[in-house]
Amino acid sequence: MKDCIFISDLHLAAERPQIIKLFVDFTNEVAAGADALYILGDFLEYWLGDDDPTPALTPVFDSLIQLAEKHQTRIFFMHGNRDFLVGQQLAQRCHFEIIDDLYKIKLQGQDAVLMHGDTLCTDDIEYQKFRQVVRSGAWKQDILSKTLEQRIQIARNLREQSQQSTADKQEAIMDVNQDATDRVFIDNNVRLLIHGHTHRPAIHHKKVNAMDTTRIVLGDWFEHGSYLRINNTSDFKLQSYL
Ligand code: MN
Repeated sequence: MKDCIFISDLHLAAERPQIIKLFVDFTNEVAAGADALYILGDFLEYWLGDDDPTPALTPVFDSLIQLAEKHQTRIFFMHGNRDFLVGQQLAQRCHFEIIDDLYKIKLQGQDAVLMHGDTLCTDDIEYQKFRQVVRSGAWKQDILSKTLEQRIQIARNLREQSQQSTADKQEAIMDVNQDATDRVFIDNNVRLLIHGHTHRPAIHHKKVNAMDTTRIVLGDWFEHGSYLRINNTSDFKLQSYL
């Protein structure tokens, strides 16, 4: 099989130029040598539509273009809860393929499932309701029909609300629900699940219906870079990128 790299939760934003630079270096030093790069959500801190110029992110997009064109690394992009307005225009510009949340893949000869991870946090009922609204085609169509200035204002309001409600929530609510993760293994008949979102990087082994399952939680890029590499011979190991 191929050499695959998995990342998520970089939360790239103009406000954190050092992480932008870290990602550009990462594409040259790590991702360039891989056959495929899977970005599993929250790659960008926010995205208001493909007409958003955000010049600070140009080096990020250029490095994706280079990765695909020069190094022939295939790039797969899953939406997160922050960058779900990334559309086909940006995908074409950056040469990535947008994949569904809950994406099946074969790794080391076995079926595996990739997710962003927010849908696993079912204890956060308020968030799940919010998600249902904003991820509907109607809501997306409505917001994308507004001017960029209007969208900036809406995003600012949503962010403030989210920060407020996050501050009020208990730690446990913000993590995945065990029944929800069990269901993913059972419903998809897989033993390996890779996701991000919770910013709690870890490799969890659990018996689910007598199946030995592995759930790999990718790390965020706030303190340093974090990635998972899987090829034929690799053990599962989360790696830091400094
Ligand atoms: Mn997320």
